[in-house]
Amino acid sequence: MSDTNTAAAAKHRKIIIAIDGFSSCGKSTFAKAIAARLGYIFIDTGAMYRAVTLYALTHGAIRSGIVDEERVVALLDAISIAFRFNPERGASDIYVNGELVEGRIRTIEVSNCVSGVSAIPEVRAKLVALQQQMGKSRGVVMDGRDIGTVVFPDAEIKLFMTADPAVRARRRYDELRAKGDEVSLEEIERNVRSRDEADMHRAVSPLRQAPDAVVLDNSHMSVEEQMEWFMRLFRERTGEGNC
Ligand code: C5P
Repeated sequence: MSDTNTAAAAKHRKIIIAIDGFSSCGKSTFAKAIAARLGYIFIDTGAMYRAVTLYALTHGAIRSGIVDEERVVALLDAISIAFRFNPERGASDIYVNGELVEGRIRTIEVSNCVSGVSAIPEVRAKLVALQQQMGKSRGVVMDGRDIGTVVFPDAEIKLFMTADPAVRARRRYDELRAKGDEVSLEEIERNVRSRDEADMHRAVSPLRQAPDAVVLDNSHMSVEEQMEWFMRLFRERTGEGNC
């Protein structure tokens, strides 16, 4: 994008872009690309639930994959989450109590426990309040499961992302293998499907499409194609012609 276009994008009234959808749809990759294009802040709320899960795992509140809800709730006051921009990645890294945990929150162990932790009402209340605080000046692209329904029901643009579960599992598998994680495709597909199931059927803030969300099925779309599609929508909604 040219400097002129970046400046044009920055000039419009800043809005909130909420991206919800199933696991491993590429929500974060897409949200990050949109934020870079518009000069917005990108907030990965899944990373926040993963960070709480990692903390619970390392503080004895999850044993043999069983989440002890009372112990997780008892730990919550001791958990302070922050994002800091990392210019090398072009995105923010997540810190818990000042400790960088970005590299440790995407393991299969965390993925297998996170839906149990994210279903706890007290966990959601704490993280939703923090997310609302982070987006209060607008100019954010936030991705998760309940952004357009609960965190920012007044978001100007809401996307609901989906893709074929087999395609999603393959993408997550390639990502983890590239990092050197010894995982099997079957294990990843099981995890993707069981998280979708758990996220859709939990009592508090289940994953569902907001009535005013636009659906994007990216099973067979590149990031560039998704961006073109998004920018058309963005121009329609904001009346911006030059970015
Ligand atoms: O987006 P990601 O796959 O990293 O999210 C990890 C998990 O965090 C999800 O499976 C879901 O249980 C939880 N989550 C949530 N609400 C959000 C974001 C993530 O419950 N807004």
